[in-house]
This record gives sequence, structure tokens and C-alpha cells, in this order.
Amino acid sequence: MSETRSDRPSGPLRPWRGLIEEYREFLPVTDATPVVTLHEGGTPLLFAPRLSERVGAEVFLKLEGANPTGSFKDRGMTVAISKAAEEGAQAVVCASTGNTSASAAAYAARAGMACAVLIPEGHIALGKLAQALVHGARVLQVRGNFDVALEIVRDLPNRAPVVVVNSINPHRIAGQMTGAFEIVDVLGDAPDVHCIPVGNAGNITAYWRGYLEYKAAGHSTRLPRMMGFQAEGAAPIVNGAPVESPETIATAIRIGNPASWFGATAAASESGGGIHAVSDEEILSAYRFLASEESVFCEAASAASVAGLIKLGVPESSRVVCVLTGHGLKDPDLAISQLTVPPAVDAEMGAVLAALGL
Ligand SMILES: *Cc1c(COP(=O)(O)O)cnc(C)c1O
Repeated sequence: MSETRSDRPSGPLRPWRGLIEEYREFLPVTDATPVVTLHEGGTPLLFAPRLSERVGAEVFLKLEGANPTGSFKDRGMTVAISKAAEEGAQAVVCASTGNTSASAAAYAARAGMACAVLIPEGHIALGKLAQALVHGARVLQVRGNFDVALEIVRDLPNRAPVVVVNSINPHRIAGQMTGAFEIVDVLGDAPDVHCIPVGNAGNITAYWRGYLEYKAAGHSTRLPRMMGFQAEGAAPIVNGAPVESPETIATAIRIGNPASWFGATAAASESGGGIHAVSDEEILSAYRFLASEESVFCEAASAASVAGLIKLGVPESSRVVCVLTGHGLKDPDLAISQLTVPPAVDAEMGAVLAALGL
């Protein structure tokens, strides 16, 4: 018999045992499911004072970079890999812009399964590639973009005994609903507005379902407006047609034909929100603002949520949550390209004082 959340010891050091144990009653698991967890979830919801002042609202940042492999992908992966283990799977496979492969590799290693990942050649951030390799995945760089890689992966189970752990796997979406549960648990109710980057559109689909299910279970009284943001060069939902060659510096949302397209448009229309585009310049400006003003170093794709909030604005004093989907250290090349690395100085006081202008 599993305990409910209220049965557990409470207090400042209550152990967090991963999101399956925390939200078991909302997830597709039973006592027969072997839980494969790295204690993901339970990420900070950080108040953002300078951003709040800038947009005239009360803004919180959901820091998904604090998950075990540095992105929200761990939320869905703990459920997908646990279910694959329950089914006796020996191998999992995914197509990935990077973070899914990092997460799949880590959880598969924990479960003792083989993992293969297909990534678009030359368009994956270095930190993510390093993670997939270091956790022991078979990494295939394919000559094509994410959408092409996903098409191949979708068909693989017809040819070989593998389980697909992309977000077309419904267990991924189920696990990702827990982000919404945590927000409601911390704020006491749903926010007015929920801002989120949109790539393959699994996450916006999952958050909306999460808000709906948590309200239906009596944990909240209202629902947020769902605001999804794509990068201008990879904005199929905004344009209303797939993008053949998506382009953006935000590689995690460089997707031309989202698998959960309908989930995103449904979340937007049912909630009275919308899906909009932000330019790479707007994304980078939000990325730098978050790092220098809020001390949060997130991925470029993550900053699309804040870029969208700044661009569109919200009614005064709204309570807003922006999901920052991944950690900035995933893509050190991008960070460095935004800055000038200073030259070395002599190791003596005079040179240091002079260089500091003191
Ligand atoms: C996967 C990912 C996204 C996009 O999420 P979707 O569910 O594909 O819309 C955004 N940001 C980061 C950092 C990601 O890893």
C-alpha cells in the first residue's frame, strides 16, 4: 500500500523521493511498477523581483534546470522508463534535440537498459551530447533535423524490440503534469498566466492537463491562461504550417513539425491563452536579463517563456509563472558567444588593480 502525501513526515527536511512517490495517485503506476527514479521534480519556484517590476506583475520562475540531468525531461522520463521496466523492456530509443537523450541515457543506465539516441548532426548543445555519452548511450548523429530523426524512431519498434521514450510516449506527458501540481502546491492555487517555451509541444500539453486534473481533484479553484512561445524561425504552430528547415539559436525548440501540435493549440484555446513567436534577439535578451538580474542561468530555449512575457505583457498585478525548462550550463558555447572572455593579466597587484580600473 502506498502512502498518500499527507501521511508522510513533514518538516523542512522531509525527504523528497521523486515525483512518482509524491504524485503516485495521478500517474499510470501500480504497486507492480518498479520505480526508476533519480529523485527528479520538487524544483524551486523562485520569485523574480526585477522581472516582476519590469512587467508590472508578480512573476515566479519554475527552475527545471534543477532536475537531475538539468532539464524538465526527467519528469516524463522517470515514468516512461519505469513503465518500460515494468513491461520488461531491454532497450529504449529516442530522437532528441539534446535534453531527451541526456535524460533517457541517465534513466536507462539506472534501470540497466540499453539506450540509443538519434540527434541532428551539428545542432546539439555540447553539454547534452556529453551527458548522453557519459551515461553510456549509443549516440547516432543523423544527417537531418529533429523531425527527420523522429520519423525514423517512430518506426523503429516495428523493426526491433525497443521502446520509444519521446514525448509521443504517453507516460512522458503523464510525468510532466507534475510540474503543474508543484506550482499549485507552492502557490496555493493556479497562477493567472503560465508562460512556457514550445518545441515539440509535449510540455505545454502536459502542464495544461496537469492544471485540469489537479483542479478536478480539488487541489485548485482556477486555471491559468496558457501562453506558449516558439522561436520565430521555428514557429510552425504560429504560422499554421510545418517549417521545413527550422532555424533558431534555441536548439531545444528547433522543431518544424511538433508531435503534440494539437495539444498546444487546445491548451491555448481552452485556457484563453495563445501561441506566439519571439525572435532570437528577444530570446537572447531575456536570457541575459535572467542571468544578470535574477541570477538564473537557463537555456536559450527556456528564456523564450520570459521573452514572450516581456514582449506581450500581462494585466497589472497578474500572478505569472514562467517555466525555465533547462540549465544554462547545457550550452556553454552559446553563453560564451554572447560575451567577451577577458585577456589574462600579470599575477601582480598593480596589473590586477589597473585591469579592474581601481
Ligand atoms: C524539450 C525542451 C523544450 C521544448 O519542450 P516541448 O515539450 O518539446 O515543447 C524547451 N526547452 C528545453 C530546455 C527543452 O529541453
